[in-house]
Amino acid sequence: MSDHNHIQQNHNHEHSGLLSQLAESGYRMTPQRSMIVEAIENSSNHISAEEIYASVVSKYRHVNISTVYRTLELLKEKGLVTETNLGNGRVSYHPTGKGQHHHLVCHKCGAIIDLDETAFIDLKEMLRKKYGFLADLKHLAIFGSCLKCNS
Ligand SMILES: [Zn+2]
Ligand SMILES: [Zn+2]
Repeated sequence: MSDHNHIQQNHNHEHSGLLSQLAESGYRMTPQRSMIVEAIENSSNHISAEEIYASVVSKYRHVNISTVYRTLELLKEKGLVTETNLGNGRVSYHPTGKGQHHHLVCHKCGAIIDLDETAFIDLKEMLRKKYGFLADLKHLAIFGSCLKCNS
């Protein structure tokens, strides 16, 4: 029985990773903040501020979009989410705990191709060796035109 409880706890802990990390850094978890964080964690991969707002407002209609933006700023500051501008006003958020990745964005058809986080290892290494520069390559978007648009 204690084993079962242990597993439950682990699962819950994993699920509320962002929430507990925020709480641990001394932030008061208001219901609005909790719902915003939940919406981010429940998103399969990415979520925009507008999508977060839509998800929260369906449960709690007094939420303000500026609260969503402020909470996202806070999560970004704490390094708990990464922000990427995918062009055309599409700004996307991704929880850091779910691993890193990058994107190729086609400026012609709008297609977004996901890249593995290892994609820029060589670039990072070159920047470090040649410039002594430690690049913070998290969640990059590279713009160009895709195979379909090029053929
Ligand atoms: Zn992404
Ligand atoms: Zn394309």
